[in-house]
Amino acid sequence: MDVEVDIAIVGAGPVGLFAVFACGQLGMISAVIDALDDPGGQLTALYPEKPIYDIPGRPAIRADALVADLMAQAAPYEPIYLLGQQTADLCESSDGTFTLTTAAGTKVRARAILVAAGVGAFGPNRPPLDHIRDFEGTSVFYHVGKRETFKDRQLVIAGGGDSAVDWALSLADIAKSITVVHRRDSFRAHPANVAAMHADDRVNVRTPCQLKGLEGENGKLTGIHISEIGGDPETIKADALLALFGLAGDLSPLKDWGVEIERKSIPVDPATLQTSRPGIHAIGDVADYPGKRKLILTGFAEAAAAAHAAHARVFPGKAIHDEYSTTRGVPGQTPDAAQKTA
Ligand code: FAD
Repeated sequence: MDVEVDIAIVGAGPVGLFAVFACGQLGMISAVIDALDDPGGQLTALYPEKPIYDIPGRPAIRADALVADLMAQAAPYEPIYLLGQQTADLCESSDGTFTLTTAAGTKVRARAILVAAGVGAFGPNRPPLDHIRDFEGTSVFYHVGKRETFKDRQLVIAGGGDSAVDWALSLADIAKSITVVHRRDSFRAHPANVAAMHADDRVNVRTPCQLKGLEGENGKLTGIHISEIGGDPETIKADALLALFGLAGDLSPLKDWGVEIERKSIPVDPATLQTSRPGIHAIGDVADYPGKRKLILTGFAEAAAAAHAAHARVFPGKAIHDEYSTTRGVPGQTPDAAQKTA
């Protein structure tokens, strides 16, 4: 399927989703491309059931609920979602129109591009264990999609960061057993939560300790080989492994786009979010400038600023008159809908 839109948005994380709304408010139609099958970026891939407390106007909202609300807010602008597709080539014609081709062969023609790529196209950091891919999705997991997956299971959680500690505490009441394996004695997590984990007799903590191998067949794990540093190898009974070594983001698909990339970020002009290449803006976690804070609300403001900047390229010479959504309205939304929330 080839599509023609005003704006191509790379990344369906929270910032890419809000960019659909921000562009829509200025009369621009978007296509959103994401390597993952589901929208939501880090919120969906890493912490769908966690509450977020710093979204303005939402004292507490679960990450998956925020993604659902962002999708609903974007929906009136009828974005084209191209999910499960990583970006590949980019070329620009003499009139300044970009053609972005995805790895699946879809061509997206757009006047401007907003790169909301976060840490890059996602993939988990896998521990180097033989045959680990044979167990993925059935016994080996890299994030908690649904807590219920771990109900009554003999779970090993590997990792030493906030995710490992938080999930050990959170899943202790539904898992049959929990063992946390970490290669250092100290954890890089919130000290109060680390103390709570050590005090919780439902959580067996093994440090300094490493994963050595997996036991089982047909995707069903029966045991995990571990070894304390300097100690003898042993096998612990387990039918689920939650390996929380973070996600590896891959920005390499953008490397040939003629956009300056510095380490894992794209430097931008903070006023317009423009990258080193005119017509391509970067927003959200991937965008960098002095004083940048990688937060969802920062990305929302950047999306609005980038949409304004891109408008000048999409509609040259056309002025933006109404600044406020209260003045512009939203297609299909009536004031009555807002009354119901009052
Ligand atoms: P992401 O959410 O990273 O989404 C980027 C998307 O782009 C991904 O889906 C990726 O697959 C896609 N992509 C990248 N490259 C390509 C490509 N080449 N082709 C196709 N698709 C591509 N922030 C807060 O403000 N408050 C919090 O309380 C908070 N809690 C957090 C808790 C945890 C455990 C973590 C890990 C993060 C937390 N954050 C929090 C940070 C927040 O999640 C990020 O700031 C936010 O997700 C950034 O959104 P984004 O849209 O820029 O990028």
